[in-house]
Amino acid sequence: MPQTTLWIKNPRAIWTGNEEDAQAGLLVQGNKIVALVPKGQSPDQVYDEVFDASQHVVLPGLINCHHHLYQTLTRACPVALNKPLFPWLKSLYSVWANLDEAAIHVSTQLGLAELLLSGCTTAADHHYLFPEATPNAIDIQVDAAQTLGMRTLFTRGSMSLSIKDGGLPPDHVVQDHDTILADSERVIKQYHQPEAGAMTQIALAPCSPFSVTRALMQDSAKVARQYGVRLHTHLGETSDENDFCVEKFGKRPVDYLEEVDWLDDDVWLAHGIHFTEEEITRLGKANVAISHCPSSNMLLASGICPTLALENAGAIIGLGVDGSASNDGSNMIQELRQALLIQRLRYPASDITHDRVLNWATQGGAKLMGRTDIGELATGKQADLALFKLDEARFSGHGDPVAALLLCGAHKADAVMVAGQWQVKDGALIGMDLESVIATHQAKAIALQNQ
Ligand SMILES: [Zn+2]
Repeated sequence: MPQTTLWIKNPRAIWTGNEEDAQAGLLVQGNKIVALVPKGQSPDQVYDEVFDASQHVVLPGLINCHHHLYQTLTRACPVALNKPLFPWLKSLYSVWANLDEAAIHVSTQLGLAELLLSGCTTAADHHYLFPEATPNAIDIQVDAAQTLGMRTLFTRGSMSLSIKDGGLPPDHVVQDHDTILADSERVIKQYHQPEAGAMTQIALAPCSPFSVTRALMQDSAKVARQYGVRLHTHLGETSDENDFCVEKFGKRPVDYLEEVDWLDDDVWLAHGIHFTEEEITRLGKANVAISHCPSSNMLLASGICPTLALENAGAIIGLGVDGSASNDGSNMIQELRQALLIQRLRYPASDITHDRVLNWATQGGAKLMGRTDIGELATGKQADLALFKLDEARFSGHGDPVAALLLCGAHKADAVMVAGQWQVKDGALIGMDLESVIATHQAKAIALQNQ
């Protein structure tokens, strides 16, 4: 059966992420963009359907590089309020230890729904809690994501260094080395799609230097490279972490990373704040990628990521909303505004432009995930689109429609397409009854927080 061709026609504005002229829109066929239409022109090819985009600003689908979807269940959790990272984590480990399968399923659905409604089409999640009740957490997440039609990169996280061995998490939330590696290998084989257009990918993600052993860092890298999947961890988030690494391993986090063979271009780090100039040079030279997580860094008072220094040194920058318990939200377009604002406290406004932030949230994220098929609007790329309207009071009076998304505080997409399929139309999810998911999720959250 021939595929239909859709013309996203005459957008109010379009930001492609490249120099190509697409002012009259683009053509989508199957899961791909098959043509860009220059200003004032009509498509050269025959098309079957038209989407009138005259009220929309069109962006490439946004890419979220770091998250913990299960944390949507502990937003604004009383025991964790108003604390920095280490005390915040210690308050929450025992709450999270009671996660069950239904909690992981509904939190994955709810968090991804929230991201999708904010224009995000590809999301990475870092799940590192595998208490006895949920050894198959990644399988549950993959299943839950399918109900939304989003592109996902699930990272098989891990914790193996508990309090009794000098780590931060309690004993009952960690797993042993061999169990972690065997399950890592299993989920890669079962779910990782290496090909262009992939909807589900897997990466390996020991949680952080303060929750895994040196051997697990090294062996996770070996397994990831054997199967060609990427590596992820938290690094350089707080100065507590630097102190911990010096005390426990006798070296700072970047030296530790190098020692365990992680200073390479298949690695992305969440946060990346507390580095020396010399460490930034080494991270850049190795083309390590960093997921900048501005809201979380502000909420936990962690610091400001040196994005430009890292980028100038050769590192890749993407954006992440981070966990919904530290950020308390999973809104991707809002995270772009947060990145713009916090980075202007560190660098000149002329360097932190809305274009640069949009680049981080699209092409930066794609590069961080090692993908060349997403992150911009160009012929042959996947048809992942985020369309925003500017009809709310907050936008009234705007000049530049693209800049207005960040500066006036866009918070919801009107339409979102993933792999050529509409998943959001008129600001609502197409494939999911969101109200019923919220009801289940809220009940689960109350039960979990009151256990
Ligand atoms: Zn995180």
